[in-house]
This record gives sequence, C-alpha cells and structure tokens, in this order.
Amino acid sequence: MAEEVEMDDARKRYEFKKTLEKLQLQQGDGTELITLYIPPDKQIYDVTNQLKDEFGQCANIKSKQTKTNVQSAISSILSRLKYYKRPPEKGMAVFCGTVRLYGDRTDLQCTIIEPPEPLNLYMYRCSSNFELEPLKQMLEEKTVYGLLVLDRREAYWGFLRGNRIEPVGGATSTVPGKQRKGGQSAQRFGRLREIAINEFYTKVGERSSAIYLAEKDFFERFKGVLIGGPSPTKEEFEAGNYLHHEIQKRIVGLFDVAYTNEDGLAELVDAAQDALKGMTVVKEKAFMDRFLKELVKDDGLAAYGEESIRHNLEIGAVDILLLSGNLRKSRLRIKCQTCDYTTEKTVNIEAGKTVADITLGNCPKCTAPLVLEEEIDIIDELTKLADQSSSKVEIISDDFEEGSILFSAFGGIAAILRYRTGY
Ligand code: ZN
Repeated sequence: MAEEVEMDDARKRYEFKKTLEKLQLQQGDGTELITLYIPPDKQIYDVTNQLKDEFGQCANIKSKQTKTNVQSAISSILSRLKYYKRPPEKGMAVFCGTVRLYGDRTDLQCTIIEPPEPLNLYMYRCSSNFELEPLKQMLEEKTVYGLLVLDRREAYWGFLRGNRIEPVGGATSTVPGKQRKGGQSAQRFGRLREIAINEFYTKVGERSSAIYLAEKDFFERFKGVLIGGPSPTKEEFEAGNYLHHEIQKRIVGLFDVAYTNEDGLAELVDAAQDALKGMTVVKEKAFMDRFLKELVKDDGLAAYGEESIRHNLEIGAVDILLLSGNLRKSRLRIKCQTCDYTTEKTVNIEAGKTVADITLGNCPKCTAPLVLEEEIDIIDELTKLADQSSSKVEIISDDFEEGSILFSAFGGIAAILRYRTGY
C-alpha cells in the first residue's frame, strides 16, 4: 500500500512538471496570455468581477488582434469559473490565451492546474508568456540534510537536497601526526595534540553549524545531519558536542567513510542508505544499482529498450519497470482513413511541438492517408501495461548519476525481470 502511495506522488510530480514545461514553451504574439492565480480563500465572484473589468479595459488595446485574443481568453476563463462555487482546497492556477503553435498556426488554449501545495497569492497578469514561477517553486525539493565528513586532519561539509549533493566547503587541521619529534616528552606531545584536535573539532563544528543554520526555513526543512569518517574520529566528534545544539540534536547517524574531502560526501550518502530509507535518492538509486548489477551478470535479470520491455511486459515477466522522468514520448494509435488498417508507434514529442506536427504517412495497404486515433503519454501507456501483470513502476529522476544513465544509455525505459526471457 505504502509503495502505491509513493508511486502516485512520483507520478503526480511528473505530470505537474510536464505541464509546466509545456506552458513554459508557449508564447503569444502580443501581450495576450493570461495568468490567473487564485488562492483557496479568494471568493470566485471577486475574481469574475475583476475579469469583467479587465474585459472592459480591453477597449484601450490598440492592436485589434491582441484585443480580440485577450477578450476571448477572458471569456473562456469566465465560462470555466462558472463551474466553481469556491476555489479548490489548494487554490488554482489558470493559464489561458492564444498561443503560437509550430509553424504559423495559433490556438486558444486554457489550462487549469490544481497545485500540489496551497497557493498563497492572487495574481492576474497579461503578458506574452505565462507566469510560472510560483508553481515552479513547488517543484523544488523541500527536505534538506546536512552532510559532514571528517577525521583529525580534514573535514568537508555540504547538503543533500532531495537527490542532489551540494558540496559547500571544508577545513584542514594543523594537528601534528602521531610521530613525535625527538626530544619532546611523550606527555607534552600528547597534550599539545589533544589541544590541536579540540581546536580543529571546534572550528569544524562552528563553521558547519553556521552553514546549516543559515538554511532557509531551517526548522521546517532541515531534517538532520549525517556524519561520516573513520572510527573513532566521528564518535569522538559526536561525544564532544562540537555542533550547535540545534544541529547536535538532529544527528541522524554516524557512518564509516574512507574519504574526508569533497568525495567523501557521496560516500557518506551511500553509507547512509538505510538511515535515509524512504528518501527518493536512496530509493531510486537502490533500484538503479540493482538494475546495473543484473545487467553485468551473464544470466542477469536486466532488460532495457522500448521493444524489449514491451515484450517482457506482455508476457508478465517484469518485476520492476524503471522509467526516466525525462521521457517525452507518445504512443500513437493510427488508422487508415478508408480501410481497416491500424498500427501503433512511439514518437518523440520535441520541445514546442505537438502530435499535430508529426507526419503519419499513408496506408501500406491502400495508400489512403493515415489518421491519428489516439495519443497516450508513453509513461501512462507503459504503466497501464505494467498494472495488468502487477509489475511495480518506478519513475527515476535524473538528479543522480545512475538516474541520468537510465535516460542517456538505456533510452529511459528499463526493467528488472522476474525471470530471464529471450527478449
Ligand atoms: Zn488503408
């Protein structure tokens, strides 16, 4: 059950991101694209009153075409708002206007988005593009972890933001090595070394804490700090309470890592997998690691490429379907205008284009023109296929190395199989 809920979230996020990408590319010929943000507590009649006002103001627009386009957009929004007694729970964003399509065609398009988080602003704007910034901010990964690796000689710190490791900075110590110089008493040498270690830990604790505490919305978003290093350094650092108390009480765990420079941060995230269970980077990375491990085996359970995955899905051999969140493809059902010929094919939908820009060609049986019967997003289509054989579906982001490999090297479509097949 829990997994289903998580998948739904990843799917919703993917759909939301894709819609924003589409809107981002839309342009109007003049200042004629309307962006309307309605927060949950706004009265719909206030909004419709303003829209009617704006409609009247259009009389002042000089360009006849722009005037007509703005007025059609406003009318279109007004007719849609009739269906709402009040805004949805989290508010709504409306994007409406005559957009330029590929070539010189234009079309009046209206998109209504119910955002994943509550909207806290009211905005009416008319411009040559849509205002998307408030929604884009909702896509940013909200949880943050602090990362810190150290031994007695050097330390490095940074953040783990969603799937992304962000190195910030480090420090090196002047702690003398274990070998003392001739003539120095062992006791005195030991004491000087302890002092130097203490000074170094204090500096690391202060500087890293300051960085973590400066994080925006710290109390809401900062989930904890992971500390890595050899033993007993990290244990002694934790025991000494060198971090600010708000950070100290948020220590997630101590992890063995070999590197204490910038490279140590990635090693730390790897070592902390179990502790971070549930976070997407770890979960998605674990699936990709399993896939790559199966791939190098002689009789491994990895498969990739659209054709192979389709075969494997059809025979129910897919355990986990791995789909890149970067996929921008559609599955088309095409039929002949005159005879009973039908076919399916997958096409890339390039940025700024729609399925209308794809040449379908002619029927191989009777040479009449082929026409489009249905277009489905490939992620939706493959997910439906996967559901039929109870295969799990994971949408993998490209925010980490193995995730971007899924897209670049395997076409964004791969699977871990239940058993080996010939495909
Ligand atoms: Zn035909």
